[in-house]
Amino acid sequence: MPADAAGGVLHIDLGAIVANWRLLCARHPSGPVAGVVKGDGYGLGAGPVAAALYAAGCRHFFVAVLDEALAIRDLIPDAMLGVLGGLILGSEATYRAHRLTPVLGSLAEIHAWGQGGGAAILHIDTGMARLGLDARELAVLQQEHTRLAGIDLRFIMTHLVSAEAADDPMNQHQRARFDAACATLPAAPRSFANSSGMFLGADFGSDLARPGAALYGINPIPGQPNPMRPVVRLMGRVLAVREIPVGATVGYNATWRATRPSRIATVGVGYADGWQRALSGRTQAFFDGAPVPLVGRVSMDLTTFDVTGHPAIVPGTWLELLGSSQTPDDVAVAAGTNGYEVLTSLALRLPRVYQAA
Ligand SMILES: *Cc1c(COP(=O)(O)O)cnc(C)c1O
Repeated sequence: MPADAAGGVLHIDLGAIVANWRLLCARHPSGPVAGVVKGDGYGLGAGPVAAALYAAGCRHFFVAVLDEALAIRDLIPDAMLGVLGGLILGSEATYRAHRLTPVLGSLAEIHAWGQGGGAAILHIDTGMARLGLDARELAVLQQEHTRLAGIDLRFIMTHLVSAEAADDPMNQHQRARFDAACATLPAAPRSFANSSGMFLGADFGSDLARPGAALYGINPIPGQPNPMRPVVRLMGRVLAVREIPVGATVGYNATWRATRPSRIATVGVGYADGWQRALSGRTQAFFDGAPVPLVGRVSMDLTTFDVTGHPAIVPGTWLELLGSSQTPDDVAVAAGTNGYEVLTSLALRLPRVYQAA
């Protein structure tokens, strides 16, 4: 779809994603750095992101589910492609046919994969309590290494619960539990840190880091200056501009009322684009670096901004909703969520325009 046929456009800087990956590689001397491209590349397009990282030399990738792996396999033909969600029992042949690397998280998955053998990653739960071998299953495996016979154990991994909170004792606790678990299992390379974990210090380095968010410009060290380059710019087109008198209201449920004669610009981006309704009255857009407040409710296809004092804003003007003036992390605060959800909410209705790496 041509960008001029839509009410908004998502600009994605693949060069910035590659630059962020290189920056993370420089921070991780102990081993390679994977690209996590689950959630359709955190909402930015797993295919283009994976292809750009592959061209830059990245040879390890992770997705969440089998379908996501199948969608990008041909773009990264000889890279390791790990499926974090694990092995869907009964789908072993599909994983093998596409040379996928399941992240095995239970004795049942280990058993099923061991029948045919092949490359796999073993996931140990050190505190998340979602996926990975729990303490009971780990104890069994520690006693019975033969359960891993036939499996080419590429990595043993675990996942941090609170890596973005550097002072949380959970980080050191998980590190100790992971070390202890690995010590009782057959020797294999380890995979430990996510984006924020890579900023916790050398102790959190491993044979393979697994950042996602930081690649896409999300700040891995909240509260400190963001070391990552911004990746996305969401532009919304002004569809209409009107003057309203004092006392007039704007939008559904009349939640905003003009206290002075006001100029209202209506932009063609709404919650169907992933510009969340929770942002109603809580954020702004930027025009030439100047903020214009969001007023009234965000509706499905439209958002209204108070552009009083900005005569240059006319139908056809583009306002910046996300970019360097207002990052996904900033908007996340206004919406009561995190930058991950802001990015993954961005909908396919928005044309994606890629700046090549
Ligand atoms: C999502 C995910 C990652 C990447 O985490 P970020 O915080 O985005 O860097 C790494 N490992 C696992 C198991 C994940 O689910």
